[in-house]
Amino acid sequence: METTLVLVKPDGVQRRLVGRILARFEEKGLQVVGLRLRMLDRPLLERHYGAHRSKPFYEGLVAYMASSPVVAVALRGKNAVAVVRKMMGATFGSKAEPGTIRGDFAVSDGFNLVHGSDSPEAAAKELELFFGADGVVDWRPGDMEWVYDVSDGAR
Ligand code: UDP
Ligand code: MG
Repeated sequence: METTLVLVKPDGVQRRLVGRILARFEEKGLQVVGLRLRMLDRPLLERHYGAHRSKPFYEGLVAYMASSPVVAVALRGKNAVAVVRKMMGATFGSKAEPGTIRGDFAVSDGFNLVHGSDSPEAAAKELELFFGADGVVDWRPGDMEWVYDVSDGAR
């Protein structure tokens, strides 16, 4: 099982899409192990988006992400990092495939509703950044045996 970080970005919260976005991940079978609405400040964003510091869109990205609350979600499941990235769709809403979150709900190339960790290593760092103090909640889903084939491990 893998755990990944999703952020419903400020536009997702302002557009009241939190429930619909979370529903997609829940329907897929991913398990919510952390959930928090919060404002992000510049120091946290500088760590979260450190890899993008030299990019032309960096300042605009930080301003966007600090402009309004986000919902941070820790999601657990088999291959959760890759599954979430696929469900989010391509970075630019104008290019994202229909059926993906960005493809269905976003047309902007900057305001694209969701963030998802792009590797297990990034997920570990980002989960620490967003849930480090309280940690995620480890709990066993009651429908585990029906979401996964558990006859031979969780497949
Ligand atoms: N972004 C942007 N302009 C760009 C590329 C990215 O405004 O040309 C923003 C966009 O909100 C994106 C975020 O910066 O989600 C991080 O970029 P990244 O390449 O990591 O895309 P993601 O992993 O979110 O698909
Ligand atoms: Mg990224």
